[in-house]
Amino acid sequence: MSIQTLKQAVRNIPDFPIAGIQFKDITTLFQSPEHLQELSDVLYEAYKNKGITKVVGIESRGFFMGPALALRLNAGFIPIRKPGKLPHITIEESYEKEYGVDTIQIHEDSLSPDDVVLIHDDLLATGGTMIAAYNLVKKLGVKKIYINFLIELEELNGRQYFPKDVEVDSVLKFDI
Ligand code: AMP
Repeated sequence: MSIQTLKQAVRNIPDFPIAGIQFKDITTLFQSPEHLQELSDVLYEAYKNKGITKVVGIESRGFFMGPALALRLNAGFIPIRKPGKLPHITIEESYEKEYGVDTIQIHEDSLSPDDVVLIHDDLLATGGTMIAAYNLVKKLGVKKIYINFLIELEELNGRQYFPKDVEVDSVLKFDI
């Protein structure tokens, strides 16, 4: 199966949730077992030789493929969540959204200096969410960080905000 076939399975919803946004609906990609298997294979092939020990997924759409990829990589899964959801001691990071400020949290004891981490989310738009997640993981002092998205909106050039020495990768690239 080609990457083009996977791209075609993503449904574009114009003007959702607000006017001007071309929303990439991945539920149509996930509903086919063949597409799901191919997506899982592509992700596994990209990271199987990187020595990943933990996959960190961002709430909530990083929770779809994150744990599935962790299982295949024989790695653990760590959630980054919205405030008030994680029950133990957390550290947090805030970032600007189009309207207002958002905060994300991670358990302070979830990662260790030996960990090689893959941070995963569904989509790279402006990059604000992932930069905040990257800063959170960095604060916990891990050995190496990789970043992965299912979808990248290339026109927004969100990847420009990541440090040059960090490998940022996406499976499906869209213009908008
Ligand atoms: P950003 O922080 O701007 O990179 O936005 C990324 C987050 O917002 C991701 O977790 C996505 O789930 C969501 N998002 C932003 N733009 C879109 C879009 N066009 N389609 C679907 N989800 C989006």
